[in-house]
Amino acid sequence: MIFLKTDEEIELLRISNQIVAKALAELASMIAPGVTTAQLDKRADEFIRDHGAVPGFLGYNGFPNSICTSVNEQIVHGIPSDKTVLNDGDIISIDCGAYINGFHGDSAYTFTVGEVKQEILDLLRTTKESLYLGIEQAVEGKRLGDIGNAIQSHCEAHGYSVVREMIGHGVGRNLHESPEVPNYGRKGYGTLLKSGMTIAIEPMINMGKRQLVFEKDGWTTRTADRMPSAHFEHSVAIRKGKADILSSFEYIEQVLETKIN
Ligand code: MG
Ligand code: MG
Repeated sequence: MIFLKTDEEIELLRISNQIVAKALAELASMIAPGVTTAQLDKRADEFIRDHGAVPGFLGYNGFPNSICTSVNEQIVHGIPSDKTVLNDGDIISIDCGAYINGFHGDSAYTFTVGEVKQEILDLLRTTKESLYLGIEQAVEGKRLGDIGNAIQSHCEAHGYSVVREMIGHGVGRNLHESPEVPNYGRKGYGTLLKSGMTIAIEPMINMGKRQLVFEKDGWTTRTADRMPSAHFEHSVAIRKGKADILSSFEYIEQVLETKIN
């Protein structure tokens, strides 16, 4: 069942999501060649706890860490490790969750490490654009298929493919709630969107084919063709007229603008 949130509950979700946004910005300042994904995980865990929250992902279905770190051809759910060292030219998708006041924040961003090829920068830009095109559809009276269709049309027009097995979701007192929010779909189809629904929209877009495989750890997914994959995620509240974005990339992008890798 879909839980509609009151305005007060949506403000609590905003608090959780703003902690996530700031944690991701903190990680943005650290990302550089030579840094390990375990170092990013440790810092995220400290940052979230310093802000009075607990990491929403740690222990979720047995997930062993506080963030997911997915490098290059990895799509989502990568496990931080002191053996995974970032290299010049890599991309890293970081998915982060924070739980406070009974509500979960959930947001993700794909970062560049050093100098990244133009074709990969294009993938990141298009994926992020598709997230905002999806969010434009996240208003009362539209349907879930409108969100998925906006994302899929934009990415496929650029020759990319949309991951099917992993999708967005409702978010609130639970990290994952109804409804499921696919990044593909048909205009005018699917669940009707109502004011007070809160959902995480999170396109996972591949440069090559859409097929994925699981790594041996049972968590990490990567592209079957080993081409790069990008992931951007916002938690949003459905409203009349315009979606209310509860997470934010502003802090991240302020850091990135001033950063010399
Ligand atoms: Mg997430
Ligand atoms: Mg999510």
